Amino acid sequence: QSPSSPWFIESILGSGTYGFVECVRNINTHQMLARKIIKVTSKQEDENELPATAVREIAVLKSIHHEFIIKLSHVAFEPLYNSGTNHLCLYLEFLPTDLKRYMDALGPGERISPRLVKSYSYQLLSAIECLHRHRILHRDLKPPNILIDYEGRLKLADFGLARQCHMPERTLTHEVVTLWYRPPEVLLNAPTYGTALDVWGFGCVFAEMTLREPLFRGECEIDQLLLIFRLLGTPTVSEWPEIAQCLYYQTGLPRFPLDDVQLSRLPMSSQCRQFLKDTLIYNPKHRRTARQLLEEHEYLAEGAVLVHSSSKNGLL
Ligand code: ADP
Repeated sequence: QSPSSPWFIESILGSGTYGFVECVRNINTHQMLARKIIKVTSKQEDENELPATAVREIAVLKSIHHEFIIKLSHVAFEPLYNSGTNHLCLYLEFLPTDLKRYMDALGPGERISPRLVKSYSYQLLSAIECLHRHRILHRDLKPPNILIDYEGRLKLADFGLARQCHMPERTLTHEVVTLWYRPPEVLLNAPTYGTALDVWGFGCVFAEMTLREPLFRGECEIDQLLLIFRLLGTPTVSEWPEIAQCLYYQTGLPRFPLDDVQLSRLPMSSQCRQFLKDTLIYNPKHRRTARQLLEEHEYLAEGAVLVHSSSKNGLL
């Protein structure tokens, strides 16, 4: 810790690809924030450059203000731990845990309550809808990037892979999205992809919240595709004509018929199953949009969609 810094380190929250995140408290105001530390190499410093992921994250968080998206308090360039090198520090609103840690801590047989799953789904889709309205793709939806508190609030975080999607869609790099949440258009290396990519990721997170385990736990790209095909049937050119343009598409792809038996075995209500199916439509053009799911889907139209508790024990 730099002697002049007013921020006292409370705990280490997590480490990511590009640095780590800690919980810090201001010694004067007692305000608590999360500090995401990104190492800047001496070459980058000499050339007055910043890591691309940090630039993306700052640009998105400065332009988007939404109830269910993490807030950026300020950015600083600080020498930390007497290391002599400067680090880029993003000071973010602090939340006590994330969806992955919360699910990992559940006891055997314990599930997230259906009304909390619905509330989280609503909050997460609202955040995604806001991003998509501003033509921003998150591109890395997964439980560790979904922060939660003990009262039922959710905030989407980690915009290191986020980027603007210009219309018409341009070809974007395919090295995006953690494997288990990666949509078929990215796995098959389609020439373009757009906002539907985040809806697939959302669907996988929704299933995981309901089932308490990842829906498609692939070990490599091919394995991931096969797991998807086994559950949803191998996609056909008639339902998704553009699949023929996918670089990795071969007419020889193993053929699995749509297996309604497997789908119906997923332990969830038929309404949840239909909601899941609508997020996992192969053809990205036909996959429901975040707005359609929010405004038109009966799963979100029925019952309380937002549950917050101020009671001492909270919801978790
Ligand atoms: P990276 O981009 O390096 O993967 P993330 O932004 O995903 O970093 O953060 C890594 C982990 O740190 C998250 O999974 C979460 O557990 C924790 N974390 C990140 N931001 C916050 C925050 N604002 N409040 C609390 N914990 C956070």
